[in-house]
Amino acid sequence: MRKLIDVHCHLYEFSNDRINEILKDFKVVAVSDDYGSSIKTVKLAEEHEGILPCIGIHPWEVGKTTKDEVKAIESLIGRYEVKGIGEVGLDKKFVKNTFNKQYEFFINFVNLAKEYDLFLNVHAPDAWREVLDLLRRKDVGRAVIHWFTGPLELLNEIKELGYFISINPAAKVQNKHRRVIEEAPLSIILLESDGPYDYRGLKLEPELIPELLTLISEIKKIDIDMLLSRINENFKALIKSV
Ligand SMILES: [Zn+2]
Repeated sequence: MRKLIDVHCHLYEFSNDRINEILKDFKVVAVSDDYGSSIKTVKLAEEHEGILPCIGIHPWEVGKTTKDEVKAIESLIGRYEVKGIGEVGLDKKFVKNTFNKQYEFFINFVNLAKEYDLFLNVHAPDAWREVLDLLRRKDVGRAVIHWFTGPLELLNEIKELGYFISINPAAKVQNKHRRVIEEAPLSIILLESDGPYDYRGLKLEPELIPELLTLISEIKKIDIDMLLSRINENFKALIKSV
């Protein structure tokens, strides 16, 4: 069977044994949180098949980080097979106090994505509008907005811009996210775990993705194989593969 794809996972946080287990069943877009984890992630991708590494600084880490770290991260591009920039973005929900600095960093990362033709793996709680406006203004080609719980009226705009959202297994218990599944066009849907992370009693990890796929097929009333082939098409467009 074809492997399922997790488009947003903090793979470097798992043990080596777990990473090997995960990669048996999943292809993983592995995101980073800072310079140290960016190095770990690109090295993991060299050591294993089936990892697409993204490098960057998480909005939660921006407060304690200097611009030098952005430069250091940029220097990894070219030296390693980097596929995307992430986890980067803006967050007005959990770390509003550093918003201005986050914005500066995010613009830098958006520019890197453009310069090196990489996709963006974006975090945007309560800054959905600001993120979309910036991506549009900068004419970013490829982006996935992860764990989308923003206003439903943005979904069509995301589609028109050619971007994607990733759906998290949290949809099982998070009503707001379930509403997103109901309303999102199939052409923008991807799947993620955001693992390893605990969310309201759910241990988020790639192994929850098959159940998520079933949930989406029930909500959208579409056959699982059909759904999966749509999602695979979306993924190919994100990573620009034919
Ligand atoms: Zn994440």
